[in-house]
Amino acid sequence: MEQCAGCQSLPIEQIRQGHTCNLHSGHNRYWRCGNVAKSKKFLDNIIQCKKYAQDENHHRYTIGFLPAELRNIRDHLIAQNSLPHLMLWTMMILASRMYLRVEEVRSLKVEDFLWKYFVIRNNKVTSLMVKVKGKRDKGPVNLLI
Ligand SMILES: [Zn+2]
Repeated sequence: MEQCAGCQSLPIEQIRQGHTCNLHSGHNRYWRCGNVAKSKKFLDNIIQCKKYAQDENHHRYTIGFLPAELRNIRDHLIAQNSLPHLMLWTMMILASRMYLRVEEVRSLKVEDFLWKYFVIRNNKVTSLMVKVKGKRDKGPVNLLI
C-alpha cells in the first residue's frame, strides 16, 4: 500500500507513538507497506522481463574452425585466383595461428610488422614478427608468426 499524505504530515515522533491521520486509525501509513512481490505492477514487470530475455537474449560465441575446415576454406579461396580471396585467406590463417579476433586482424597495419625480426631464407619468408595488443594485454606484445 502506498503511503498516506495525511499520515506523513504528522511529525515522526507522533507516528512512533502510534498516532495516525483520521483515515488510518490503528495503523499509520507513513511508509509504504505490503508485499511488493504481490503487486500487479511488479508481476507485470516480471512477465515483461522474462519475455524480453526469451526474445532478445542471444548466445554469443566464437567460431573455431577444425583443421579440415580450414583446408577446405583455403582450397576454395586459393582456387578463386584473385587478390581479395588471397587476402582473405591470409587474414584467416593469421587470425587462426595467432588466436586473433577478426577486429584485431583488421586493425593490423604495416607498421605493426617488425621487419627486423623477419626470418627470410632462400627468398622465402619463414617467420614474421608482429606487434599486437590483445584484449587483456596492457600494451602491445610481439608475436612470432
Ligand atoms: Zn493516513
